Amino acid sequence: MPVPEADQVIPVLNDYIKIFKKANARIFATRDWHPPNHISFKAQGGPWPPHCIRDTEGAKFHPSLKIPSDVAIVSKAMEPHKEAYSGFDGTELANTLQKEGATRLFVGGLATEYCVKNTVLDALGLSFKTILLFDAIRGINKEYDDAKKAIDQMISCGAGQASLSDFPYPIEVPSTGDPDNELYEKPLAKIETRKKARMRPRGPYKRIRTERG
Ligand code: ZN
Repeated sequence: MPVPEADQVIPVLNDYIKIFKKANARIFATRDWHPPNHISFKAQGGPWPPHCIRDTEGAKFHPSLKIPSDVAIVSKAMEPHKEAYSGFDGTELANTLQKEGATRLFVGGLATEYCVKNTVLDALGLSFKTILLFDAIRGINKEYDDAKKAIDQMISCGAGQASLSDFPYPIEVPSTGDPDNELYEKPLAKIETRKKARMRPRGPYKRIRTERG
């Protein structure tokens, strides 16, 4: 089941994984884990070609996605007769998050107008502050503007938006205390800019001191 440009979210998600890992935030990876006769498949009258059939190659996370070993994997849509786009649908995700005292979720992945949208809307419904990782999603766009409509809907329902360049400010990911070595790690474009900006004025001051000396 192809999602156009889906591979482009992988390096971005890897950067987010790094950021949240450094911040000691919990990371969850949701996945379709369908039985071979799932209701969403065309042979069963559904809209989709067979995809993400449990225990097959097609159900695996992309090999380039760097999923840490302590990530919680949330499998969904495992019942033959029930579709479940949302990561909360028929899973323990809500219970786990509430038990752990989570208040804020950052969501990225595929596809924007199906699993991402339904997960985000459920999260908002459960009163989590929910932030859409805008550069880490891609849509299928059966109709050309499906993904855009989904984004509009998520935002109008209260979702926030963030991109890599927003980190670490102003998202307030819990800091690990050492700005130079932790959240500020490469490859965050904005941080590179800040470092360069800080270095620029040093040159002239140094020269002035040398001339005086
Ligand atoms: Zn599916």
